[in-house]
Amino acid sequence: MLGWSINLFRIFGIQLAVHASFFLLLVYWGYEGWQEGGLPGMAWSVGLIVLFFVCVILHELGHSLAARRYGIKVPRILLLPIGGMAEFDRIPRKPAHELVITIAGPAVNFLLVALLLPLVWRGLFAPEDRSYYSVSGLLDQLWYANLIMGVFNLVPVFPMDGGRIFRALLATKLPYLRATWWAVMVGRVLAVLFIGWAVYRDNLMLAVLFVFIFYAGNAEYQVALRKEQEEAYWREMARQAIPVQPEDPRGGNLRKIPCLRPAKATFRPFARALSSVGRAPQWH
Ligand SMILES: [Zn+2]
Repeated sequence: MLGWSINLFRIFGIQLAVHASFFLLLVYWGYEGWQEGGLPGMAWSVGLIVLFFVCVILHELGHSLAARRYGIKVPRILLLPIGGMAEFDRIPRKPAHELVITIAGPAVNFLLVALLLPLVWRGLFAPEDRSYYSVSGLLDQLWYANLIMGVFNLVPVFPMDGGRIFRALLATKLPYLRATWWAVMVGRVLAVLFIGWAVYRDNLMLAVLFVFIFYAGNAEYQVALRKEQEEAYWREMARQAIPVQPEDPRGGNLRKIPCLRPAKATFRPFARALSSVGRAPQWH
């Protein structure tokens, strides 16, 4: 399903793409706007949603440009109706790197909040003075949207930004895999609470978003687990194989090491599972 995307253009060398379902969102918002305010209402609503997603792109660029400082490649930023995702070639293992990359996203939103503040200042205190379908009304909405985007992403539900910050902080004290497990578990409990709240408030979009996040957190834990097992396997291989070679002029003793063959057999499922992951790690 994620294959149904359309490449737009490159920005800082990163391919920007939109998922086909994004256009359904534009049609839906356009129709809602038209019903409420005719043609100006439609133009205003579509304009707002486009500008909102420009802010989403800027948020993802914050993550992406920070990641590139640490040598991580970012081939694509994909826009979905539920938000954006930057695709990385790997997830940084150093907590300090993960912290900087993660904070860079919401920091862009808070920067936009600060930059827009002089333009919306009057409207915040006297909203009745402003017409909704106007440029100033649009800026008001955009200011709120950035404030909400920045705060919402800091909720510690892994793999949302807040969850990643939580994992990175835990990883400074705990082993990486253990830290990930705790971040996923705390995130799952919070995600269930948010799903319940969203259903109660009749906000189906938010409920779907948290169902998605609930599964995404565990998927990333599984990838981290497999990587850990793979590394443990190679460490064991290296430990067993290296001391043998210098004392073995005939080169034949390697086959007699009892652990090698069963270990090789157990490695195959990991390799298969790793190749089945397929998709690149993603930052939201
Ligand atoms: Zn983010």
